[in-house]
Amino acid sequence: MEIRFFNTLTGTTEVFQPVHSDCVRMYSCGPTVYDFAHIGNFRSFLFADLIRRTLEFFGHRVHHVMNITDVGHMTDDASADGGGEDKMQAAARRMKEDKKSGRVPEGAVQNPDDPYQIAKYFTDAFLEDARTLGVRVAFEYPDNVLQATQHIDAMLEMIGQLIERGHAYVGPDGVVYYSVESFPAYGRLSGNTLDRLMTGAGGRVSEHNQANKRHPADFMLWKPDSSHIMKWDSPWGAGYPGWHIECSCMARRRLGRDVIDIHTGGEDLIFPHHECEIAQTCGATGESTFARFWMHARFLLVEGEKMSKSRGNFYTVRDVLQGRVRDDKGQPTGVSVHPAVLRLELLKSHYRGNMNFTHKGLIDSAGVVRRLTEFRARLEAASGGHTEPVDLSHPVLHAFAAALADDLNIAGALGAILPWAATTPADPAVALGVLERVNEVLAVAPLAAVHGGGQVTDEQAEIRQLCSDLDDARKRKDFGAADQIRGQIQKRGYDVKTSPTGTIAEKRLA
Ligand code: AMP
Ligand code: ZN
Repeated sequence: MEIRFFNTLTGTTEVFQPVHSDCVRMYSCGPTVYDFAHIGNFRSFLFADLIRRTLEFFGHRVHHVMNITDVGHMTDDASADGGGEDKMQAAARRMKEDKKSGRVPEGAVQNPDDPYQIAKYFTDAFLEDARTLGVRVAFEYPDNVLQATQHIDAMLEMIGQLIERGHAYVGPDGVVYYSVESFPAYGRLSGNTLDRLMTGAGGRVSEHNQANKRHPADFMLWKPDSSHIMKWDSPWGAGYPGWHIECSCMARRRLGRDVIDIHTGGEDLIFPHHECEIAQTCGATGESTFARFWMHARFLLVEGEKMSKSRGNFYTVRDVLQGRVRDDKGQPTGVSVHPAVLRLELLKSHYRGNMNFTHKGLIDSAGVVRRLTEFRARLEAASGGHTEPVDLSHPVLHAFAAALADDLNIAGALGAILPWAATTPADPAVALGVLERVNEVLAVAPLAAVHGGGQVTDEQAEIRQLCSDLDDARKRKDFGAADQIRGQIQKRGYDVKTSPTGTIAEKRLA
């Protein structure tokens, strides 16, 4: 089946084929670890995860890499070389407040002035949230989730190459700048060509530092700054790298090629970040392309409004899972949901449209997850836990696959599954095979049948035993023992829930 994706670079939907048939090489811009990632960030990470899982579903091997920005992302980086302050440095100031308010637990970051400790804390939080939501690449840390501060040597090497090839220069202020005029294709991705930038282009070029640059859109590659808390030696003085250079370097180093297949991010990254990445990589490699497909997720809104801290509609993954979502009237709902529900909610609208996060939407997603989960349990009971392998000749799986292959038409994919999940399939083992394959991509019917009929694995048998031990301890009112058993179950990767029939363990997403 042909896979088609919309490519921001060409503005068209194209047939996807990897450059090298052995493997798809894919890079995703990850979080800046100066705070908890919010659910808007996670919309773009789950979008990348959906691309990856879809390609794997179709039999491709995918080498997926994501970066962690722990240095160099400036507060005004929405415009070309906007300047401002390193976000990590700003976070160090905020951390004292966050600890005082309890937003970050006391004892979590020993020295709130140390940006490395802050980066470590928020990196761990990101990985935990990403794994909770089933973002596959997060399970591959540290191999494929890469920290910028671990790749300074690659950045120094690429900056040296860019100077050698006439794409970069040292300004009178000692800063190394990329010369946008040296790269005629600048603006191809975003439409912000140099002529348009000079005539304004929506204020995307700031007044910042113009006297030191050859062109106002030239952007920083290396900033010598001995007062910066995070700094490294370099031929241009001790300092720190710009934000854009990290992605060019990590993609090239870890994916091992000058031209990769897919590069993803949220829509705000098209300009300047991705435009600058292309200029850097192509400038250093001499290739005319960096990524063949550039794919971008549109922004998430909350109850129809831009998500922002000042409006108080800024949610982290923890906020949603722990019931801190408010309804359309701003009232607290106190409804906490399973991670699969948030995963589905963030995936279920097409990535090229804005997504509106609402309490009602979340409740609808909870209903869908419940239906799929119950369907799975019914099939497991009817098939005795037996699963038949299936291929795309199965009509339901075929319709599901055809929708995904059509630029990730998620509504079509869900439309192929949900009416079917309300039926009683003639062959439950085959149906279970279909559902397993669907779930490899969507990961929204996560509940392993620890309870219910059918064959059980050794692990399921042990977990069942622990659940029944927990119920016994509760009956005896031995709450110490109950807590201890609950901890044991959780350590094995299960969530512990109480149901009318006793304790239930639900396997967390993987
Ligand atoms: P940052 O942590 O700011 O570097 O952003 C990490 C990723 O989240 C980037 O790909 C952004 O484009 C993306 N992003 C930021 N805000 C949103 C949002 N409201 N909706 C969707 N993606 C977003
Ligand atoms: Zn990036």
